[in-house]
Amino acid sequence: MSRRGRIDPFEPAQIRRLVAEFGSPLLIVDCARVREQYRSLARALPGVDLHYALKPLPHPAVVRAVIDAGGWLDLATTGEVLVAAAVGVPGARCIHTHPIKRARDIRNALEHGVTIFVADNPDEVRKFRAHAGRASLLLRVSFRSPGAVCDLSRKFGCDPEQALALARLAASLDVEVRGFSFHVGSQAVDAAKHAEAIEVCAALLAAARRERLGACDTLDIGGGFPIDYGERAAGIHRYCAPIRRALAQLPKRVRVIAEPGRYIVGPAAIGVATVMGRAQREGHWWYYLDDGLYGSYSGQLYDHARYPVSVMRDGPLLPSVLAGPTCDGIDVIAEALQLPKLNIGDLVVGRQMGAYTWATASTFNFFPKATIVVVNRQPGDTGGV
Ligand SMILES: *Cc1c(COP(=O)(O)O)cnc(C)c1O
Repeated sequence: MSRRGRIDPFEPAQIRRLVAEFGSPLLIVDCARVREQYRSLARALPGVDLHYALKPLPHPAVVRAVIDAGGWLDLATTGEVLVAAAVGVPGARCIHTHPIKRARDIRNALEHGVTIFVADNPDEVRKFRAHAGRASLLLRVSFRSPGAVCDLSRKFGCDPEQALALARLAASLDVEVRGFSFHVGSQAVDAAKHAEAIEVCAALLAAARRERLGACDTLDIGGGFPIDYGERAAGIHRYCAPIRRALAQLPKRVRVIAEPGRYIVGPAAIGVATVMGRAQREGHWWYYLDDGLYGSYSGQLYDHARYPVSVMRDGPLLPSVLAGPTCDGIDVIAEALQLPKLNIGDLVVGRQMGAYTWATASTFNFFPKATIVVVNRQPGDTGGV
C-alpha cells in the first residue's frame, strides 16, 4: 500500500476509504506527487528557478508542497497573493505575472513584498512610475503558438520588435527593467517555440543591457510544459532538451525562471464522482454522476482536456455514456464509452485532474464543487489527510 509510509490515494481501496470519510464528489490531491512533479521538472531544467503558477489549482497545500520542494511562486491576482500570504510564503519568493493589473492589485502585491512584475504595453509600464525604486519589470513578449492547445500569446505580450521601445519607456520613467518573459501557450506540443523565444529574448536582453535600460539579468520562460492525457506526451526530460540547449547559450549572469502550472499539479490529483442515477436510452446506458462539465470536468470545455476515466468494477462491456448532474444537455462527460454495467453508488475516477479542473468549476444548478482532500502533505506522512 505504501512506499516510505506514504499512502497511494489513487488505489481503489484508498479511494473508497476517502469517499466513505469525506463524501462525493472529491478531488484527491497527492502532495507527494506534487513534490515529484516539481523535482522531475527541476531535473529537466537545471539552474532554472521554478515558480509554480497558482492558477491551475490555487490550493494552500499545493503551494506548501512546492515551497517544501524548494520552489517559488507565480502570482497573478490579489486572491493568489492572499493564498501565498496565508501559507507564509514571503514576497521575495514570488513574482507577479499578470500583464494587466488594477492599481490595488499592484499595491496588494507590493505590500506582501513582491517586487517583480510583468508588463506588456506602455500604459501598464506607466502604472509603475509611482512605484519606481520598489518594483521592477519583466516585459512580456508575444510568440504566437498555433500548435499549443491554449495559445497565450494572442491576448498578451508585445511584438518582439516593440520590446526595446517598451524597455526604453520604462527606463525613462526610472522603472527598472529586470528582463523579458513569455508564455508560449499551455500544453505546448514541443519545445521548439520555447527555444525560439529564448533566442529572441537573449538578443533583447543583450541589446537592452547595451543601452543600459536596467539590470536586464532575468529571463522568464513561462509555463506550458505538457502532461500525458492519454496520447503519450514525451517524457519531460526529453521534452526540455531544446530548452536546455537554448539556455546554454545565455551569459552566466542571467537568472532563468519558469512558471509551470499544469505540469506540477495535473498528474497530482484525481476526481472521484458517484453514479447518482442511470437510464437506458437508444441502446446506451446513461450514468448520471454527481460531478460534471460544470464541476471538475469544466476543463473539458475551458481547457480542451480529456481526462482518462475508469470505473472500479469488472464485467462485460456495454456502450455507455457518462453525464454530469445538472439539467443542461451539454453536461455530458464522455460518450461512446465501453463500460461494465454500473450500479447507483458506484464510483467513477478521472485521472490527470489537478490542473484547470476544480479551479474553473462552478456551482451551477446548486451542485457543489468537489471537496478537496489532501494526502501526503509532508514528506514521510503516513496518510494524514
Ligand atoms: C497560466 C499561466 C501559467 C501556467 O501555465 P501552464 O501552461 O499551466 O504551465 C504560467 N504563467 C502565466 C503568466 C500564466 O497565465
